Amino acid sequence: MRAYVLVQPGDMALQVLPRPVPAPDEVVVRVRAALTCGTDVKAFVRGHPKFPMPTPFGHEFAGDVAAVGSAVRGWREGDPVMAVPTAPCGHCYFCRRRQENLCDSVMETMVLGAYAEYLKIPARHLRVNVFAKPESLPYEEAALLEPLSCVLHGLESVALRPDDRVVLLGAGAISLLHLLTLRAMGAEHVAVVGRRPQRTEHARKLGADAVYSGSLADARDQVLTATDGRGADLVVECTGQVDVWEAALGFARRGGHVVLFGGCPPGTQVRIDTQRLHYDQLRVSSPFHFTPRAVRRAYDLLTGGQFDGAALITGHFALADLPAALHEHQHGDGIKFAVLP
Ligand SMILES: [Zn+2]
Ligand SMILES: [Zn+2]
Repeated sequence: MRAYVLVQPGDMALQVLPRPVPAPDEVVVRVRAALTCGTDVKAFVRGHPKFPMPTPFGHEFAGDVAAVGSAVRGWREGDPVMAVPTAPCGHCYFCRRRQENLCDSVMETMVLGAYAEYLKIPARHLRVNVFAKPESLPYEEAALLEPLSCVLHGLESVALRPDDRVVLLGAGAISLLHLLTLRAMGAEHVAVVGRRPQRTEHARKLGADAVYSGSLADARDQVLTATDGRGADLVVECTGQVDVWEAALGFARRGGHVVLFGGCPPGTQVRIDTQRLHYDQLRVSSPFHFTPRAVRRAYDLLTGGQFDGAALITGHFALADLPAALHEHQHGDGIKFAVLP
């Protein structure tokens, strides 16, 4: 089979590898669509602490079951399938406390290699986090399951009211996924702050109530003006940049909730105004990854027929053109790109 391998930062290679064979408790999936993701761009450009290289590449996918291990029940060859690339062990300290996103072995056992014709799904993934894909849902939209699970996990602790003023910082794929998700949760007022006008244009098309593309300070002034000087009820930081993390608190009202969603580079630190944190009683959370509960909710949202995932996929590439797809993801005006092996 043909599969991309990330050899080292800046170097990916399309290789011909043996087609994977399932162990008795595994299945092999024929990948029909994989999606580009900011994480992949970061891993390619500067390396990634969780992906020692050389490594199979790509983690957002959907496809068809191509081979079934002899002990597997419930799956047959040809079944359309959607999955996330990780699964918790179910018995470590964190799993027992329902913090499966922090499971001791959740990242080490991540399934990588979605930019390939075939991908092997281990037993622990089959127990949770692998689902039948409805025929009506296109493969590329089904492949949104992973990023959408992250978004739903991040919003799990948010007590949203329909009349809340929400501000999303950043206008990339994760911000726009938040926009669609918050709408589905009933949010009536969602504003998006982004620096690149082409990206903020997508936010406008997807129905953001307000779009601010000036400086962060200008955007904050406009949010304060629009809220009688209070600030937003909910602020979600979606960039993973230290300066945006620090600015995020300034957008929130007293008693508001700030979700710092985007992971920053290792070794970075932020400064927080203690007065705002305490006397203004800001609630700050910084959710990581997802639990099976969030995956289930993401699955329900994607398959419910009301979620316009197609709007987030702004181009298609053949497997061999992955370098162009990732270049476009990083430098172009699109959102996410489907790679069709
Ligand atoms: Zn991703
Ligand atoms: Zn665990």
